[in-house]
Parts: sequence; structure tokens; C-alpha cells
Amino acid sequence: AHLDRIAAVDPTINAFVTVTAEDALATARDVDERRARGEQLHPLAGVPIAIKDVVVTDGVQTTAGSKMLEGWIPPYDATLVEKIKEARLPILGKTNMDEFAMGSSTEHSAYGNTLNPWDIERIPGGSGGGSAAALAAFEAPLAIGTDTGGSIRQPGAVTGTVGVKPTYGSVSRYGLIAMASSLDQAGPVTRTVLDAALLHELIGGHDPKDSTSLPQPATGYVKAAQEGALGDLTGVRVGIVKELTGEGYQPGVQARFDESVALLRDAGATVVEVSCPSFTTALAAYYLIMPAEASSNLAKFDGMRFGLRVEPTDGPLTAERVMAATRGQGFGDEVKRRIIIGTYALSSGYYDAYYGSAQKVRTLIQRDFTAAFEQADVLVSPTSPTTAFKFGEKLDDPLAMYLNDIATIPANLAGVPGMSLPNGVSDDGMPVGFQILAPISEDARMYRIGAALE
Ligand code: GLN
Repeated sequence: AHLDRIAAVDPTINAFVTVTAEDALATARDVDERRARGEQLHPLAGVPIAIKDVVVTDGVQTTAGSKMLEGWIPPYDATLVEKIKEARLPILGKTNMDEFAMGSSTEHSAYGNTLNPWDIERIPGGSGGGSAAALAAFEAPLAIGTDTGGSIRQPGAVTGTVGVKPTYGSVSRYGLIAMASSLDQAGPVTRTVLDAALLHELIGGHDPKDSTSLPQPATGYVKAAQEGALGDLTGVRVGIVKELTGEGYQPGVQARFDESVALLRDAGATVVEVSCPSFTTALAAYYLIMPAEASSNLAKFDGMRFGLRVEPTDGPLTAERVMAATRGQGFGDEVKRRIIIGTYALSSGYYDAYYGSAQKVRTLIQRDFTAAFEQADVLVSPTSPTTAFKFGEKLDDPLAMYLNDIATIPANLAGVPGMSLPNGVSDDGMPVGFQILAPISEDARMYRIGAALE
């Protein structure tokens, strides 16, 4: 049914870069046979899933939304893909995204725009617009995203789906094409909080192949979601982050947020206002740290090791000239912009002024979180200041595009988990997201609050 739906709507929506219909059907049949034999299977066995094209899949093209990797077939699976295969979820295919996960609108993909199923003149968010749109268009019931600076949560907000960025280190990064290694985290994209909890438990847990992987197993999320669904939040302290509400937030977004806070109060939660003064500089710090790490991570695309290779037709065929020609043609404008910012920020003479300062701001943000979590069990805010904007609206203004990430980025800089859940629609009829943040390794709290609000 999902493959039929993809065939019917994806020519318009363009959520998928690659559809793996035969593999998906083979897994589905295998699940049927095993069930018929009475075999005990994972609760999600047989439930189809779509995977963001930045996650490597053995034998299946993985592009990261870039021309640089067109036709690249990885020889191995990411750890999270291995787990999905072991649990026998049919993989429907790979979803579209901003090139190398840089963007908030999926307009920076080399494989065309993904359209927002709510209004096809509007963006589906980014960088994981494909995964979110696939869910919103009923092309897939589950998907995987990655969130370096909001790329799971912001697409979730603007498409009316659930998106979870787990605690940094909770889901293995082995097999993710790295954007900014100290910020990247894979997580669930779903239609309900309970689905996200099930998927998070499946893909999470320690992985010896990822040196930043946390030792503890990923458990307790399903239980927390079930408990939250009972709707009683007596004793829970909810903190509204002062710096992430009010000015700059679309009136309809703010109104839906206030209504949901009232619902939390009705459920028995105590609501307090907390201040995180450093959050106002989070965006500036992120847009230095992230390009700095990306410029280093993307150095491997040199025209020799992966994907595209362009040989200059004039002059000598030196490694440097092949590299320059390949990177010149293979990378899009946004990727080039970030490589330039990143290498500049890291260069000697500027390192302390830019990268060094940004790292200090990062510490201040972590401290703000620590102080805020002394006053509240979870923090809440709108996920994104506006609903989905129209294509082209922010394409020529990188700073306006970056501003979209104002509420999502602090969590990445501090490594704390974050969830976005559907929060009604704004005055323009477009979906709004409600963000819940929890302390490191306390992801279960988000599932409890999220399920209570759902
Ligand atoms: N909008 C963010 C950026 O462009 C998204 C990053 C991400 O989470 N992949 O950097």
C-alpha cells in the first residue's frame, strides 16, 4: 500500500531520491512467512520505513542530497540500518534532503525540491524535508532523520509530524555521512509519540563502532510514552524558555504554544519561566562550529575516494587540479559557502577569535541548560518561529534561512535531547510544532510529556 502511495504522489512530492520497492516487498513477505510459522518478531517487524539519504545503506545508492555522491553505492550498512534490518522493517527507500544536511528547506538538494504535502508551494523544512514529507503524505509510516541543528525537529514542525533528536551519543553515528560530528544525531520521524519511542528503542543503544556512543541501552521510552498517555502530569515541572518565545515568533505559532502550555497545566504540571541568556548567541556559535567541522569532514570528497571525479580537460592532471575541478562541480552553493566560512574560522590568526569564541559560547549554553534543569524537569518552546515559508522566499538570504533554527540549535550545542510534536495549525492553515527539551540521557521525560499532550 505504501509503495502504491509512493507511485501515486511522489512524482509531485519528491520525498524519495531512491525507492527500493523489491527489497521492501521481499522483507514484507519474509515477515509474513515467519509470522505464519509462529516466530516471535520485533513489534515493528513488517512496518515500512524510509531512511534519510545521509545514512549509508549496503548496496543502495546514498547521495546525501549531493551531486558529489550520485551513483555511490556503499559497501556497508550504518549501525542503525543493521538494527532496522535485524528487526525486519521493510525499507521503502532513501529520502531527499538538503545537500550534506545543510539547510532548513530542502531547497539545497541536487535532486530537486521536496514539496510540503500540506501546501505544495511551501517548503517541507530541512534538511530532512524528504523524511518528514514522506510521513505527512502517507508514503511511509516511519522514517529516520538526522539532526545537527534541527533537521529532524524543524521539518517535523512544518509538516505536522513527530521528530526526535535523541541525546547526543544515544544513537550510533556509525554510517552517517558526517556533517558536524560533535552535533550530529540520528533519530525517529513518526506520526505519533509512541511510534517514535518504539523506533528510538530499536535504533538506540551502545555501539563500539562509534567512539562517542553512550554506554547505556536505549530503554524506557515506550513505557514513558504509555505512562504519559494516561494524561496525569502531577508533580512535573515545565520550564518555558523566555528567550525562545515572544518577539520574532509568528502570532499563530505563539498562540498554539500558549494553548498547549495551558493543557500541560490542566494535566497537573507546574509551569515556570526560565531564562537561558546565552541562547541568544547560540545561532552565531552554531554557524561557526558547524561549518568548521563540516569543512573538515567534507575534505574527503576529493575526486579520488568517493563518487564524482572531474578531470580538467586543459593542462596537467595533478591531484590538486582534479580535486578543484571535482569540488567545484560537485558541491552546491550552500556547501561551498560553509566550507569557506569553516576554513576561514579555523585558519591560523582567526581560530581564537571565531572558533575559540564559539566553543566558549557553547560552554555557556551548556551551563544555561544545567541551571534551567534545576528549576524544571523539561523545557518547552515553539520548535520553529514560523510555519513553512514559500519556496524561494529565503533562498537568497542565508541569514534569514539560518534564523529558522533559533529554537532548535541550543539542544545540539549542549547534546540534550529534543522532540517536536504537532501543535495544531497557525492562522495560515499550516502546521505548528511544540518543542520539548530534556536533560542529557533523560529522553524518557520527553516521551512522557509528548504523549500526555498528544
Ligand atoms: N538548518 C540547519 C543547518 O542548515 C540544519 C542542520 C541539520 O540539522 N542537518 O545547518
